[in-house]
Amino acid sequence: MIGGGLAGLAAGVALADSGWRVRLFEQRPFLGGRATSYVLPDGEHVDNCQHVTLGCCTNLEDFYRRVGSAGKIKFFDRLSFLDPQGRRGEMKAGTLFAPFHFTGSFASFAPLTLRDKLSIARAMLNIIRHAGNPPDLREDISMIEWLHRRGQTQRAIDRFWRVILVSALDEELGRTDARFGVDVFWKAFLSSSTGYRMGVPSVPLSNLYDGCKAEIERRGGEVVLRTPVRGLKLESGQLAGVRFDDNREESADAYIFAIPHTALAELLPESLKQSDTSLAHLDKIKTSPITGVHLWFDRLVMDEPFVTLLDTTTQWIFNKTLLYQDADEPSQAVLPSLPAQAGEVRSPSSASRGQYLQLVISASYDLLEKPRQEIIDLCLAEVRHALPKARDAQLLKATVIKEAAATFSPEPGVDRWRPAQATQISGLYLAGDWTQTGWPATMEGAVRSGYLAAEALLRASGTPRAILQPDLPPGGFIQMCVGNSRPARG
Ligand SMILES: Cc1cc2nc3c(=O)[nH]c(=O)nc-3n(C[C@H](O)[C@H](O)[C@H](O)COP(=O)(O)OP(=O)(O)OC[C@H]3O[C@@H](n4cnc5c(N)ncnc54)[C@H](O)[C@@H]3O)c2cc1C
Repeated sequence: MIGGGLAGLAAGVALADSGWRVRLFEQRPFLGGRATSYVLPDGEHVDNCQHVTLGCCTNLEDFYRRVGSAGKIKFFDRLSFLDPQGRRGEMKAGTLFAPFHFTGSFASFAPLTLRDKLSIARAMLNIIRHAGNPPDLREDISMIEWLHRRGQTQRAIDRFWRVILVSALDEELGRTDARFGVDVFWKAFLSSSTGYRMGVPSVPLSNLYDGCKAEIERRGGEVVLRTPVRGLKLESGQLAGVRFDDNREESADAYIFAIPHTALAELLPESLKQSDTSLAHLDKIKTSPITGVHLWFDRLVMDEPFVTLLDTTTQWIFNKTLLYQDADEPSQAVLPSLPAQAGEVRSPSSASRGQYLQLVISASYDLLEKPRQEIIDLCLAEVRHALPKARDAQLLKATVIKEAAATFSPEPGVDRWRPAQATQISGLYLAGDWTQTGWPATMEGAVRSGYLAAEALLRASGTPRAILQPDLPPGGFIQMCVGNSRPARG
């Protein structure tokens, strides 16, 4: 296993559970890849960025259960939205069956007018009528084109569709394949009344992977950190091993590369790309950025666990102090320490009795070139506008973490460049959120890819086993209309 992000960990744990001796090599000093946490020089333990899951992420839930971390995720059934005028909206399932469970909260959603809501309702009915698969999704159109075809008002686009989809897919609507956008609403908001429930870790992200090493080692395997794979060894055109620093080599019965597609494109020899043309187009998969802004105040400034801001650069505010409450902080001695890209820290002291907020800005192209202090000033002004208690509070310190290649960009047609987990090359398998999973770049997509890679390997070795978990079953009226099955997408 090359790569200790969620894809590699999911494949490793599933294969260990199937009796394989797994050796996992990770280049960094800690596990978790793009969904991890580390200690800054001042001793503060931060996530590289807030990560959330949803009720419809059935494979991620299965993975957390396997590694003993399910209890470290808190689920919330109320999503809160706040506009600059102080009007609030909520999404919360009421007593009606799916797909009408949001009718009550949507009717009283103050940041939208009746006209906006009627246009949104029409588009939702179109998704429902086609069981999440409207025919024009096959045309590789962008989400914005799909919305324009359905006569959405500008406010409905800005304050509803864009808010939910840019956070979920990390891309602007004009660069998002409508298939991914519609799928978010079908899976999370329409087909069942629990798919939208938001799961937020109550511990720093790296704590979620504590059980992985033990699972792999229990079956005789090992997890080796600080060990980047530098190259592939070929013999008679076949994959015969991997190369590390100092020309050290290791060989195995099978190899799963669970590294980002950009890293794989650099490692793969040209001859392998020619043997399997699905490996020749990895450079066509683009990436998009996410920026996290961490603010420490000298007092409590926010009461709720999280809120979504409308019409601002800041998209989400997470109340980390509240979310971590009741959770046991791990001892600092076992925490992974800072990688190079963490942002600046302005004061070494920790806000022990104050409050720690984490802001998230997805598809943050405009922030990539901005100086960190400018980003802090901009976000701080927005936080103070949204949260009255923050106006008198002192900001003790702040950090900006820019992830320039946070996810693959879900551009129209991107699926044709995403390779399957089983390749044409004997013994070579792939995993990663960017492989062919049907899902966008998410933790769920990464775990699915790992499970699919493990299934492919087990099939090829003559011991097939089903690992992938089914989607949430459709609920309420949806179940009556479409049953438990839904047309598959290719
Ligand atoms: C800022 C940010 C916010 C996000 N928010 C969310 C969210 O809220 N919800 C959600 O579901 N998803 C979110 N995501 C996406 C999610 O983090 C990713 O989809 C997922 O973690 C990808 O996992 P992966 O295993 O496919 O890849 P990675 O996590 O990138 O793992 C690849 C691993 O391979 C290692 N590696 C690379 N090259 C080598 C080599 N040569 N040798 C050995 N090891 C190597 C890397 O160090 C890394 O550990 C977010 C991502 C970012 C960056």
